[in-house]
Amino acid sequence: MAVPKGKVSKARRDKRRSSVWKLSAPALVKCSKCGALHMPHRMCPECGYYNGRQVKAVAVEAEK
Ligand SMILES: [Zn+2]
Repeated sequence: MAVPKGKVSKARRDKRRSSVWKLSAPALVKCSKCGALHMPHRMCPECGYYNGRQVKAVAVEAEK
């Protein structure tokens, strides 16, 4: 098992965490069909559309 060679000082540890461990909110885009927010390059969970076509049938279809 790998063992740390030496103690990492608080300054070095905090410097590492300051720049690399930044959390950012996930990007959201508006669905071109229903306008709901969803992740880019993913199917819209509301209507099941991606790239202008139906990818997956969604159970909650209120058009009948
Ligand atoms: Zn949609």
